Amino acid sequence: MNTPLQDMPSRRRPPALDVAVVGGGMVGAAAALTLARAGFATALLEARAPAPWDAQAEVDLRVVGLAPSSVMLLDELGVWTSIRAARAGPYTHMHVWDAASGAAIDFDAASEGRDRLGYIVENSLVQWTLWQALPAAGVHVLCPAEVKAFEAREDRIQLELAGGETLAASLLVAADGAASPLRALAGIGTRGRDYAQRAVVAHVVTERPHADTAWQRFLPGGPLALLPLADGRSSIVWSLPEAEAQRVLALGERAFLDELGVASDFRLGRILSSTPRAAFPLKLQLAERYQAERFVLLGDAAHAVHPLAGQGVNLGLRDVAELRDTLLDARAAGRDIGAAHVLRRYARRRRSADTLDALGFDALARIYAWQAPPLVAARAVGVRLLDHLAPLKRRLSEHAAGL
Ligand SMILES: Cc1cc2nc3c(=O)[nH]c(=O)nc-3n(C[C@H](O)[C@H](O)[C@H](O)COP(=O)(O)OP(=O)(O)OC[C@H]3O[C@@H](n4cnc5c(N)ncnc54)[C@H](O)[C@@H]3O)c2cc1C
Repeated sequence: MNTPLQDMPSRRRPPALDVAVVGGGMVGAAAALTLARAGFATALLEARAPAPWDAQAEVDLRVVGLAPSSVMLLDELGVWTSIRAARAGPYTHMHVWDAASGAAIDFDAASEGRDRLGYIVENSLVQWTLWQALPAAGVHVLCPAEVKAFEAREDRIQLELAGGETLAASLLVAADGAASPLRALAGIGTRGRDYAQRAVVAHVVTERPHADTAWQRFLPGGPLALLPLADGRSSIVWSLPEAEAQRVLALGERAFLDELGVASDFRLGRILSSTPRAAFPLKLQLAERYQAERFVLLGDAAHAVHPLAGQGVNLGLRDVAELRDTLLDARAAGRDIGAAHVLRRYARRRRSADTLDALGFDALARIYAWQAPPLVAARAVGVRLLDHLAPLKRRLSEHAAGL
C-alpha cells in the first residue's frame, strides 16, 4: 500500500483512470474508497503515508465529532464497525451555555427519537481504517506522491508528479487540505476571515463523569468544548484569542488545570489531569469556486470552518456523497464524468450548502462575541426561546446530523 511511486513497475500503474484523488486525509480517503466501490477506476495520491493507528497508544489529540450522516457513509463503506469497535465515544446529549448570561440550550437524542447525536472519534483512526480498505476496493494508492502540475485536455486531465512521472484521469479531485496546493494551481482563490484565535486541545480527566454529553460553554474569548471520549476522559477544544492561547499553552500543569476548571464552570467538577496541550489556528475559508476544468475541490480544500459546531469533516463527507451521486448519474446517462456541465451540479449544490453552514457558524461566533449588556440580554432571550421551541430545535439538530 505504501509502495513509493518510483518503485512501482510501470505495468502496475493505473492504466485508464476515471478519477485521481489527491490528498489521503479523512475526506480524500473516503472519496477514493467511495468512488472505487461505485465502480470508478480510482487512484489516491498522498504526500505522506499515515502512521498506523495503535490501540495501545495515547488517544490522538485531533478528534472530530462524527454526525449521523458521516457514520452512515462510513457504514456504507464497510469501515464503521471496526472504527466503532476500536475507539469511538458516543454522545447522547449536548449542553451549550453562555458564560455571560447563563442561558442554555439542550439537545437530547432520545427526545428526537434517535439513539445518539454522534460520536467523538480520532481523526487518525478513521483515516487509518479507510486506508486499510483501499487495496481491496481496487484503489491504486500512490504514496508518497506529490502533484506538481496538471493540465486539462479535451478528454482527460494530465498530472505531473514531483518525480517527473505523469498520470492521466477523466477527473482530478483535490482533497489536499485547507492549504490546498492544487486549489492554488487551479487558480481558485478563497474568501473568509482569520479569527485571530487558536483552539487549544488536550484530553483531560475530570472529577465527575462526562455523562455521554458534549458540553460547550461560550466565554468572552471564544467557546470551550468538552467532548466525551470513549475512555471516560473529555477532549477539550478551547478557542482563545491568539495571545491568550499562547499564555494558556505556556501555563504550568497545576495552573492550567485550575484555569480550565474555572473556564468550564466546574461543570464536570475539578480537572484532575491533562495530556500535553496542542493548538490549531482557526479561520473561515471558502473557495471561490469548487470547480475548474476536469477538477473539483472537496473537504477542507473547499471549506474550513470554526470548530464551534464540530462540523468540519462532516461537511467534507457530505461533499463525498454528493460527488459520488453526481458521477453515478453522469455515468448512467452515458456522460463524460469530467465534463463541466456534470461537475456543475456537484459544485453548485455543495458550495451553496457549505456556504450556508459556514456563514451560520460564523454568525454564531459573532453573536457569542457580543459583550455589551443589552446585546447579552437579547442573546439570552433568543437562546431561551429557541430552547423551548421544540420543532425549530429539532430542525436545527436534524440539520447538524445531516438527516
Ligand atoms: C481544533 C479543531 C477541531 C475540530 N473539530 C472537528 C469536529 O469536532 N468535527 C468535525 O467534523 N471537524 C472538526 N475539525 C475539522 C477537521 O479536522 C477537518 O475538517 C478534516 O480533518 C479535514 O479533512 P481533509 O481530509 O479535508 O483534510 P486534511 O486532513 O488536511 O488532509 C489533507 C491531506 O492532503 C495531503 N496533501 C496535501 N498536499 C498534497 C499534495 N500536493 N499532494 C499529495 N497530498 C497532499 C496531506 O498530506 C493530507 O494528508 C476540527 C479542526 C480543528 C482544527
